[in-house]
Amino acid sequence: MSVKQVSCRCGAVELQISADPVAQLYCHCDNCQAAHGAAYVPVVVYPAQAVTVVKGNPVPMKADPLARLRCSECNTHLFNDVVSHGLRNLNGYLFPKGEFNAQFHVHCRYAVLPVVDDLPHYKGLPAAFGGSDERVSW
Ligand SMILES: [Zn+2]
Ligand SMILES: [Zn+2]
Repeated sequence: MSVKQVSCRCGAVELQISADPVAQLYCHCDNCQAAHGAAYVPVVVYPAQAVTVVKGNPVPMKADPLARLRCSECNTHLFNDVVSHGLRNLNGYLFPKGEFNAQFHVHCRYAVLPVVDDLPHYKGLPAAFGGSDERVSW
């Protein structure tokens, strides 16, 4: 993952990235399902200070427990912050095809569409992100 700049679909918001990602994953949690209208979503995790908004003014997504920010023009979800861990989670859809390469799946206990692949499938979160490391069987 060498992408250093991403934007929303309409180009009103641009984000600059100054570090390599901490992790790339698929999240199956019910909040992501509701916010995206999708069974699971790609997420690229960065140190919070490594991602800055260099163009536009992201606005909060309403009624979202994770406080995601979106473009006010095209409504593309951009990122949310995990303040307790100093992380900024970017929407994996912002990245060019081929750049997003998931390393594992998280919050699989919420999954509505199990994905059978060779990656680890965590019931919640891996220990490195404050979880139990427990996995599901698929
Ligand atoms: Zn936009
Ligand atoms: Zn999620």
